[in-house]
Amino acid sequence: MVDSLREWQLALPYTLPLLTSALLAIVIALTVWRRRTVPGAAPLMILSIAAAEWSFAYALEIAATPAAAAIFWARLQYLGIMTLPVAWILFALEYANLHHRLTRRALALLLAIPVLTQIAVWTNDYHGLIWPQIRLGTVGSFAILNFSHGPAFWICNIYSHLCLAFGAFLLLRRFFGAPRLYLRQVAVFVAGAAAPWLGNGLYVLKLTPWPGLDLSPFGFTFTAAAIAFGGLRLRFLDVVPVARDVVLESMNEGVIVLDDQGRIIDTNRASQRLLGSSAADMIGKPIRQVLERWPQLLDRYRGIVQPGEEIAIEIDGKPYVLNVNVSPLYDRNGRVLGRLIVWHDITALKQTEEALRQRNEELIALQQTLLLAKEEAESANRAKSAFIANMSHELRTPLSAIIGYTDLIKFDQDRRGQAIYAEELRAIRSSGHHLLALINNILDLSQIGANKMQLQNELFSIEALVHDVVTAVRPLIEHNHNTLTIECAFDDDLMFGDRLKLRQVLLNLMSNAAKFTESGAINLRVWSEPASDRALPACDAQYVVFAVSDTGIGIAPEHLSLLFKEFSQVDGSARRKYGGSGLGLAISRHFCRLMGGDVIVASVAGQGSTFTARLPADVRRVSDGSAAPMGAAIDPVQVP
Ligand code: ADP
Repeated sequence: MVDSLREWQLALPYTLPLLTSALLAIVIALTVWRRRTVPGAAPLMILSIAAAEWSFAYALEIAATPAAAAIFWARLQYLGIMTLPVAWILFALEYANLHHRLTRRALALLLAIPVLTQIAVWTNDYHGLIWPQIRLGTVGSFAILNFSHGPAFWICNIYSHLCLAFGAFLLLRRFFGAPRLYLRQVAVFVAGAAAPWLGNGLYVLKLTPWPGLDLSPFGFTFTAAAIAFGGLRLRFLDVVPVARDVVLESMNEGVIVLDDQGRIIDTNRASQRLLGSSAADMIGKPIRQVLERWPQLLDRYRGIVQPGEEIAIEIDGKPYVLNVNVSPLYDRNGRVLGRLIVWHDITALKQTEEALRQRNEELIALQQTLLLAKEEAESANRAKSAFIANMSHELRTPLSAIIGYTDLIKFDQDRRGQAIYAEELRAIRSSGHHLLALINNILDLSQIGANKMQLQNELFSIEALVHDVVTAVRPLIEHNHNTLTIECAFDDDLMFGDRLKLRQVLLNLMSNAAKFTESGAINLRVWSEPASDRALPACDAQYVVFAVSDTGIGIAPEHLSLLFKEFSQVDGSARRKYGGSGLGLAISRHFCRLMGGDVIVASVAGQGSTFTARLPADVRRVSDGSAAPMGAAIDPVQVP
């Protein structure tokens, strides 16, 4: 009992540092536990606990008597010894953002040697692969176990060193790639990584104040302390460089972080691109120096800029508009640590805005021009309509006198039985009537153009109207040696609409047929049909259809679309031969549409034509008089 107490006291210089190391490692593990959600915390905790376990078991091994107890503690150390390299690798992987690459298989491989080592350690008595011999020796003035080392020991030893080296390599790689803001933290890490090597090296070279004592557990405790310091004091674990890279480097916004002296301590790629400088050119330099080419930017960064302030600058002769925000960075005590400058390149947005503004102005100007032009056109149209109306009146009065006096002279001559100038008088009369028709057509057209054409609706007999038209047109039909047939098949003889306009339409169609047919046949067919038969929208209204067919010269397909246009005579030679103004069909279509119907044509050149006018039997039944456009709905060939 006295002996063992003395042993304890003698071992104290060895056990005390080891127990202190264990305690420190436990404190670190607890501290990290409080921040266990940050990246890298879990492996760091495991690392600290393993270092604590190793230190603690090592201390007890030194202090223990008898030898069997010391061997037990020596075995127990291997739990910590073999956990450390694994935890170290896991930490380094997480820190380097490579932990997602660690597959289950890789983890199993990583754990294989530590697990086998545990087995080998506890079964050493049977094979001696770890310790072939264990002898009692002395260190200083107290007894200690001396272990000789077998192949399994060397395997796990090499394995541990490889793991340490690989982890250190990952950290070093990070060190060279890290922005300067994080260099201090990474440097602390690398120092932490070097500690176990140093401890082991001093032990091997016997350069320690405790000969025979392996300093590796101190090394690992130091590693854990360094990492925890890097993480907690330098806030490393809060903003791991990985997170910084992911956030800052992927941003479209330029970011510059300044320290309290106005020196750049971090910048991202967007900033470097815009300013055309590399990170190495910018970091560590005063912002004043980096931005000296853009004094206006410099002016702004001095004061705290309101959020979203826009600044126009020129970079290499190219204009840019930047949206700049500068905000102060404070520490926990409210002291200004530096400034954060965030800018967003809104040049394209501004250019689009400017282009839109210009386009808008152009559009407004164009709209005004169009409005003016419209007003001018309307006023010109009004003047034209007034002029045509006046002129028509002025022309019609003397023309009526000419026709009247011609009739009078003819009548007088007939009475006296004289035939002198009979032919000339007939020519004057015919020309007068032609001129009168022309003037009337132009007047109609001007009224249509001015939307002044009114319907004079009345109830009338279709048969009487047909008779009237045929009587009027018969001389012309006979003049060209044509025959006329009429077929009427309507349910109701009465129609309500503008009789005079319908008469004008039919006269035009019939006289055209007579004019463009020689020694042929002209046929007028009239029938009624319900609107629903034609699937027209005008509900149950009845329609009366007038189809005028001839066997005349016909119209070429390419001319059909011109027929109903004002002043269009489809064939120049026909005009010379047949006369006419090219207004009749245009007016006829206007009239038909005004009355809620339409007129269409079907024709084969050289064989004849059919013009079909289709009108509501009662103009009041179709809502606004335009409800029944016919278009191509009527096929004149299908006349019953
Ligand atoms: P115009 O007073 O010249 O006859 P229209 O508008 O009535 O004016 O006719 C326009 C043109 O349509 C005519 O010049 C003619 O070429 C053609 N046309 C009209 N009806 C017929 C028809 N039945 N047969 C052949 N061509 C016709």
